[in-house]
Amino acid sequence: MRLQVLITIVAMLGWGACQQAQPGHHISASTEPIITPEGDTIERVVKSEEEWKAELTPFEYYVLREAGTERAFTGEYWNHHERGVYVCRACGLPLFSSDTKFDSGTGWPSFYQPLDAWRVQELTDTSFGMVRTEVRCARCGSHLGHVFDDGPKPTGLRYCINSVSLKFERTP
Ligand code: FE
Repeated sequence: MRLQVLITIVAMLGWGACQQAQPGHHISASTEPIITPEGDTIERVVKSEEEWKAELTPFEYYVLREAGTERAFTGEYWNHHERGVYVCRACGLPLFSSDTKFDSGTGWPSFYQPLDAWRVQELTDTSFGMVRTEVRCARCGSHLGHVFDDGPKPTGLRYCINSVSLKFERTP
Protein backbone atom coordinates (compact mmCIF):
# COMPACT_ATOMS: atom_id res chain seq x y z
CA MET A 1 0.00 0.00 0.00
CA ARG A 2 2.75 2.43 1.02
CA LEU A 3 4.68 1.50 -2.14
CA GLN A 4 1.66 2.32 -4.30
CA VAL A 5 1.41 5.76 -2.73
CA LEU A 6 5.12 6.31 -3.38
CA ILE A 7 4.78 5.23 -7.00
CA THR A 8 1.83 7.60 -7.45
CA ILE A 9 3.79 10.52 -5.99
CA VAL A 10 6.83 9.78 -8.17
CA ALA A 11 4.60 9.50 -11.24
CA MET A 12 2.94 12.85 -10.45
CA LEU A 13 6.30 14.56 -9.93
CA GLY A 14 7.55 13.10 -13.18
CA TRP A 15 4.49 14.33 -15.04
CA GLY A 16 4.88 17.78 -13.51
CA ALA A 17 8.51 17.96 -14.62
CA CYS A 18 7.44 17.26 -18.21
CA GLN A 19 5.17 20.28 -18.08
CA GLN A 20 7.97 22.67 -17.13
CA ALA A 21 9.00 25.05 -19.86
CA GLN A 22 12.70 25.74 -19.89
CA PRO A 23 13.58 29.09 -21.42
CA GLY A 24 16.45 28.88 -23.83
CA HIS A 25 16.05 25.13 -24.10
CA HIS A 26 13.18 24.15 -26.27
CA ILE A 27 11.34 20.91 -25.60
CA SER A 28 10.29 19.14 -28.78
CA ALA A 29 6.59 18.94 -29.42
CA SER A 30 4.92 15.55 -29.53
CA THR A 31 5.23 13.85 -32.90
CA GLU A 32 1.81 12.16 -32.63
CA PRO A 33 -0.72 13.76 -35.01
CA ILE A 34 -3.34 16.06 -33.54
CA ILE A 35 -6.89 14.70 -33.83
CA THR A 36 -9.30 17.63 -33.79
CA PRO A 37 -12.76 17.40 -32.16
CA GLU A 38 -14.14 17.33 -35.74
CA GLY A 39 -12.08 14.19 -36.38
CA ASP A 40 -9.49 15.77 -38.68
CA THR A 41 -5.89 14.60 -38.44
CA ILE A 42 -3.27 17.35 -38.29
CA GLU A 43 0.30 16.15 -38.77
CA ARG A 44 2.84 17.85 -36.51
CA VAL A 45 5.60 19.91 -38.04
CA VAL A 46 8.83 18.47 -36.66
CA LYS A 47 12.16 20.05 -37.62
CA SER A 48 15.62 20.04 -36.12
CA GLU A 49 16.80 23.23 -34.47
CA GLU A 50 19.33 23.55 -37.33
CA GLU A 51 16.47 23.53 -39.84
CA TRP A 52 14.54 26.14 -37.85
CA LYS A 53 17.66 28.30 -37.61
CA ALA A 54 18.05 28.19 -41.39
CA GLU A 55 14.39 29.18 -41.99
CA LEU A 56 13.84 31.85 -39.36
CA THR A 57 15.54 35.17 -38.78
CA PRO A 58 17.74 35.26 -35.65
CA PHE A 59 15.05 37.24 -33.78
CA GLU A 60 12.24 34.90 -34.89
CA TYR A 61 14.39 31.97 -33.78
CA TYR A 62 15.05 33.58 -30.39
CA VAL A 63 11.33 34.09 -29.66
CA LEU A 64 9.80 31.05 -31.38
CA ARG A 65 12.39 28.41 -30.56
CA GLU A 66 14.09 29.79 -27.44
CA ALA A 67 10.95 31.20 -25.77
CA GLY A 68 12.23 34.77 -25.91
CA THR A 69 10.01 37.86 -25.60
CA GLU A 70 9.91 40.92 -27.84
CA ARG A 71 9.93 44.28 -26.08
CA ALA A 72 6.47 45.74 -25.45
CA PHE A 73 5.20 48.25 -28.05
CA THR A 74 7.88 47.20 -30.57
CA GLY A 75 6.13 44.40 -32.48
CA GLU A 76 4.21 44.53 -35.72
CA TYR A 77 0.75 43.71 -34.35
CA TRP A 78 0.12 45.19 -30.89
CA ASN A 79 -1.66 48.12 -32.54
CA HIS A 80 -2.94 46.30 -35.62
CA HIS A 81 -6.69 46.38 -36.28
CA GLU A 82 -7.33 44.83 -39.70
CA ARG A 83 -9.73 41.92 -40.03
CA GLY A 84 -8.14 38.56 -40.64
CA VAL A 85 -6.36 35.61 -39.13
CA TYR A 86 -3.04 35.40 -37.32
CA VAL A 87 -1.08 32.26 -38.23
CA CYS A 88 2.01 30.74 -36.62
CA ARG A 89 5.06 32.43 -38.11
CA ALA A 90 7.01 29.16 -37.96
CA CYS A 91 4.53 26.68 -39.50
CA GLY A 92 1.56 28.72 -40.81
CA LEU A 93 -1.14 27.11 -38.64
CA PRO A 94 -4.05 29.56 -38.16
CA LEU A 95 -4.08 30.42 -34.43
CA PHE A 96 -6.09 33.57 -33.62
CA SER A 97 -8.82 35.64 -35.27
CA SER A 98 -8.93 39.43 -35.28
CA ASP A 99 -12.50 39.00 -33.96
CA THR A 100 -11.09 37.97 -30.55
CA LYS A 101 -8.25 40.55 -30.47
CA PHE A 102 -8.58 43.32 -27.90
CA ASP A 103 -6.53 46.29 -26.78
CA SER A 104 -4.89 45.15 -23.55
CA GLY A 105 -2.63 48.20 -23.22
CA THR A 106 0.35 45.87 -22.69
CA GLY A 107 2.10 46.50 -26.01
CA TRP A 108 1.64 42.91 -27.17
CA PRO A 109 -1.14 41.59 -29.40
CA SER A 110 -3.78 40.13 -27.08
CA PHE A 111 -6.66 37.77 -27.76
CA TYR A 112 -9.32 36.35 -25.48
CA GLN A 113 -9.24 32.93 -27.13
CA PRO A 114 -7.52 30.93 -29.89
CA LEU A 115 -9.43 29.92 -33.04
CA ASP A 116 -9.81 26.44 -31.51
CA ALA A 117 -8.47 25.07 -28.24
CA TRP A 118 -6.50 22.31 -30.00
CA ARG A 119 -4.41 24.83 -31.96
CA VAL A 120 -2.41 25.87 -28.91
CA GLN A 121 -0.55 23.95 -26.25
CA GLU A 122 -0.39 25.35 -22.72
CA LEU A 123 2.45 24.53 -20.33
CA THR A 124 3.53 25.68 -16.88
CA ASP A 125 6.47 28.07 -17.08
CA THR A 126 8.37 28.74 -13.83
CA SER A 127 11.11 30.93 -15.30
CA PHE A 128 12.01 34.31 -13.75
CA GLY A 129 10.58 33.29 -10.35
CA MET A 130 6.99 33.41 -11.63
CA VAL A 131 4.44 30.71 -12.33
CA ARG A 132 2.93 31.45 -15.73
CA THR A 133 1.22 29.47 -18.45
CA GLU A 134 3.25 29.38 -21.62
CA VAL A 135 1.40 29.12 -24.95
CA ARG A 136 2.91 27.26 -27.88
CA CYS A 137 1.74 26.37 -31.36
CA ALA A 138 0.33 22.85 -31.07
CA ARG A 139 1.51 21.87 -34.55
CA CYS A 140 5.18 22.87 -34.43
CA GLY A 141 5.80 23.48 -30.70
CA SER A 142 7.02 27.04 -31.25
CA HIS A 143 6.69 29.54 -28.42
CA LEU A 144 3.93 32.12 -28.86
CA GLY A 145 3.59 33.87 -25.49
CA HIS A 146 1.64 33.39 -22.26
CA VAL A 147 -2.00 33.24 -21.17
CA PHE A 148 -3.33 35.07 -18.09
CA ASP A 149 -6.72 35.02 -16.40
CA ASP A 150 -7.27 38.79 -16.39
CA GLY A 151 -8.81 39.05 -19.86
CA PRO A 152 -12.19 40.38 -20.96
CA LYS A 153 -15.47 38.56 -21.44
CA PRO A 154 -16.54 36.07 -22.64
CA THR A 155 -13.55 33.93 -21.55
CA GLY A 156 -11.77 36.12 -18.99
CA LEU A 157 -8.50 35.04 -20.62
CA ARG A 158 -5.72 37.15 -22.08
CA TYR A 159 -3.50 35.43 -24.59
CA CYS A 160 -0.47 37.73 -24.60
CA ILE A 161 1.35 36.84 -27.80
CA ASN A 162 4.57 38.03 -29.40
CA SER A 163 3.95 39.75 -32.75
CA VAL A 164 7.04 38.04 -34.13
CA SER A 165 5.47 34.62 -33.42
CA LEU A 166 2.53 35.52 -35.68
CA LYS A 167 1.90 36.39 -39.29
CA PHE A 168 -1.27 38.28 -40.19
CA GLU A 169 -3.37 37.17 -43.15
CA ARG A 170 -6.12 39.50 -44.29
CA THR A 171 -9.60 38.03 -44.74
CA PRO A 172 -10.58 38.52 -48.39
FE1 FE B 1 3.48 26.46 -35.59
